[in-house]
Amino acid sequence: SQTIAGFDDELAAAIAAEQSRQESHIELIASENYTSPRVLEAQGSVLTNKYAEGYPGKRYYGGCEHVDVAETLAIQRACELFGCDYANVQPHSGAQANGAAFMALVKPGDTVLGMSLAHGGHLTHGAAPNFSGKHYNAVQYGIDPVSGQIDYDEVQALADEHRPAMLIAGFSAYSRQIDWQRMRAIADSVGAYLLVDMAHVAGLVAAGEYPSPVPHAHVVTSTTHKTLRGPRGGIILSAEGDEKLYKRLNSAVFPGTQGGPLMHVIAGKAVAFKEALSDAFRADQAQTVANARAMVDVFLERGLDVVSGGTDNHLALLSLISRDITGKDAEEALGRAHITVNKNAVPDDPRSPFVTSGLRIGTPASTTRGFREAEMRSVAGWICDVVDALATEGGVDATIDSVRGKVEELCARFPVYRQPAHLDRA
Ligand code: PLP
Repeated sequence: SQTIAGFDDELAAAIAAEQSRQESHIELIASENYTSPRVLEAQGSVLTNKYAEGYPGKRYYGGCEHVDVAETLAIQRACELFGCDYANVQPHSGAQANGAAFMALVKPGDTVLGMSLAHGGHLTHGAAPNFSGKHYNAVQYGIDPVSGQIDYDEVQALADEHRPAMLIAGFSAYSRQIDWQRMRAIADSVGAYLLVDMAHVAGLVAAGEYPSPVPHAHVVTSTTHKTLRGPRGGIILSAEGDEKLYKRLNSAVFPGTQGGPLMHVIAGKAVAFKEALSDAFRADQAQTVANARAMVDVFLERGLDVVSGGTDNHLALLSLISRDITGKDAEEALGRAHITVNKNAVPDDPRSPFVTSGLRIGTPASTTRGFREAEMRSVAGWICDVVDALATEGGVDATIDSVRGKVEELCARFPVYRQPAHLDRA
C-alpha cells in the first residue's frame, strides 16, 4: 500500500486522531490557525524532493527551473502583500528567521534590547536559554504592571543606558498596538538597528487591521503560520532599499544558518500569500479582531481581569491572580472541556513559567473555521463558567461535562476541513 494507513497503522491512527481533535475542539491558541487545503497540497507535493541551495537563478544544484518559479512567486507576493522590496522566504521557522536577522545585523557579544519572555516577548528576543541570550549581551524591557502596556520611556531609558546595537520589537503575548514609529525613533537615537518580529500579527498587518512595521523597521521577521494562515515557516522582509543589507540577510539565511530550502513549504508560502491578497482573507482578519473584542467584552462583564483592559489584535491575556487560580489548572480544566488555550505568565506573575497565573486566548483559528461574535461570546462565557467553577468548593467536573457537550455541538456546526468549500473562499 502507498498510504500510511495499512503500512503504519500506529502513525495513521495518531494523524487521524489529531485531525479529529482539530475538528472537535475549539482552538484558542493565539499562534495557531488552520491552513487551507491548497497550502496542505503544496506541502505534500513532490517539491519536497528537490535540493535548491542558493536563490532563484543562482543555485548550487541543477534542475531548479521549476522550484525557481515557486520561490520567485513567493518572494513577489510577499513584497506585494507587505509593501516591501526585499523578501527572503527560505527561513524554516520564525526562530530561524530571527537567527539570520541577528547574524546579518549584529556581532556576537553585541548588546541587544528586546522584550522579555515573561512580559510577552519571544525566546529569540534575548531570553537566557536561547542563542539570542547566550551569544549576545541581552538587555530586556517589559510591560508596565499597572497599564499592562509597553512603557516607551522605559525602553528609551534602557537604550540610553545600554546603547544596544539592535532594538527588537514584537511579541508572542501582547494585546495592544505597538508604536513602531516610536520604536524606530528610540533605535535611531542610539544608532541601533530596529528589528521587528511581527510573527503574531502578520495576517492582521497584511489585511490593514494592525499598523505595519514595514515602513519603520530596518528588518521585519515573521512566521507564516499564525494569523497569516500559511505553512509553518519564516520570512524576512525589508523596505529599506539597502542592497548591501539585503545581500547580508540572504547570506545569513544561506549559507549562514541554513542549508537547502524546503521548496514544498516555500510553495505553500506562495499559495498562502496569494490567498492573503484576497478580499475574503482581509474580511477574516477584521473578523479575527472583532471576535477578540467580543470575547474580551464577556470576560470583563463576568469580572475577569484582562491585562491592559482590552485588546487591539487577535489575542487577550487573562490574569487569574485575583481568583487565586493557576494558569496551569485553568488550561487543564478547559482542555478537558475541549477548549484549547495556553497558560501564560502575566505581569508581576508570582508563579513559575510552568505554572503561571494567566491564560492567553486568541481568535485566529476559530475565526478561520467560521465563528463570528455570537459564537465567540458563547465560548467566552463557557471559559468563565469553567474558571468560576475552579474557584468553588463543589469542584469543576459537572461544569466541564456540560461545557464539553456544548463545545461538541458548536464544532459540529462549523467543520474545518470536512466541508472543503469553507476554506476555499479566498
Ligand atoms: N517570533 C514570535 C513573536 C513568536 O511568537 C514565535 C512563535 O511562537 C516565533 C518567533 C518562533 O516561531 P517558530 O516557532 O516558527 O520558530
